[in-house]
Amino acid sequence: MTTIFDTYESAVRSYCRAFPAVFHRASGAELFDQSGRRYIDLFAGAGTLNYGHNNPLIKRRLIDYLRDDGIIHGLDLYTTAKREFLETFESVILRPRQLHYKIQFPGPTGTNAVEAAMKLARKFTGRNGVVAFTNGYHGMTAGALAATGNSYHRRISAGLLNGVNFAPYDGYFGAEVDTVSYLRKLIEDASSGLDKPAAVLLETVQGEGGVNVASFQWLREVESLCREHGILLIVDDIQAGCGRTGTFFSFKPAGITPDIVTLSKSIGAYGLPMSLVLMKPELDCWEPGEHNGTFRGNNLAFVAATEAIRIYWSNNTLSLAIQHKAHVLRRRLRELCDEFPDGVLSVRGRGLFVGMACETCPQAARLISAEAFRNGVILETCGARDQVVKFLPPLIIEENMLEEALDIVVQCTRTVMHRLVKIPSADTPTPFDQEIQL
Ligand code: PMP
Repeated sequence: MTTIFDTYESAVRSYCRAFPAVFHRASGAELFDQSGRRYIDLFAGAGTLNYGHNNPLIKRRLIDYLRDDGIIHGLDLYTTAKREFLETFESVILRPRQLHYKIQFPGPTGTNAVEAAMKLARKFTGRNGVVAFTNGYHGMTAGALAATGNSYHRRISAGLLNGVNFAPYDGYFGAEVDTVSYLRKLIEDASSGLDKPAAVLLETVQGEGGVNVASFQWLREVESLCREHGILLIVDDIQAGCGRTGTFFSFKPAGITPDIVTLSKSIGAYGLPMSLVLMKPELDCWEPGEHNGTFRGNNLAFVAATEAIRIYWSNNTLSLAIQHKAHVLRRRLRELCDEFPDGVLSVRGRGLFVGMACETCPQAARLISAEAFRNGVILETCGARDQVVKFLPPLIIEENMLEEALDIVVQCTRTVMHRLVKIPSADTPTPFDQEIQL
């Protein structure tokens, strides 16, 4: 069934190894394989399908555009689709939030937006260094990879990954260690060995790194530190943005205003490749074509993005629905975690960006994901040791489908955990000993 892929597709393929079905159709939060088997998708293309698979409202607009021979590829030429996107993004997203940004369309992947953001910060400040954070993930091309913590991804190019210094993210040493003070000391001490950077680059919730949530206070302190020292603050909102945490921009509830923001994944609304760099207008020091690319300005993605923004962000209905479903998801997962001894499983996240961490038995996360797949739910893992089960349902998932998927996840987690850890019975006086049986 998968022979052609196994024979011809490079060994670099990855997600298909965890979910080895041949998928054929998809709709909303459901995927169907070639034999018609149904899966509930709690992964949503790694946060790309916030509005679901083949969202019918967006599809209608795309079909009309295709039927009318609208421009599909236009380099970065002016097009009506681009104009409508810019007008809508400005009037529905930026203006009501009192955000003033110019917009750059880099190549359509997230990593390209990060490359552009880092380059722009370097050009504007005339400085080279960027501070990124432990467990951060920003992409696979050299510039963005230099800012990505994970050694599995870094190792091939390790010697070439320059210009980035890592600082500990919020909570890296536990809740009691204030990691902004540490970074402040490095920046303010002329003998620390850290040259003043062009920018600080961060995710407000680290997605690939394990659903690590920065506190609003930490974010505000990082912003103050940047302001005091003329360092640009770049928020990579590629995974946490476009509503994932409950608001369009993940940083907004923290009360910070980054100098540069990167967006990708769900900005293309229909799974269509697109990415954006938002920059404060005074930072726009690019010369024409200085960050060039053939596939900047995916017009079909502009059409989808415009429609999604109009439908979902002109009022707060979606935001409220995200909050409600996030509450359901968190409650169910907390109840599940409570079935096991303290600290074995724990829940974290913001909005519909949620992780269930298995810190003391990291292998559980992969096993839960595999068991869920066998039972018709798609769930990915993340974190340095793949120790976190990640929940990224489409934001538009119906509540009863979310509950149905969670019923399955609860059962699968029980199955895996009872196989993995020895749970003391009520009459056993010994403390939980986490005996790993595999
Ligand atoms: N930044 C973040 C925060 C991401 O989560 C990702 C993708 N997981 C990227 C950048 C890179 O995006 P892409 O895979 O589209 O290059």
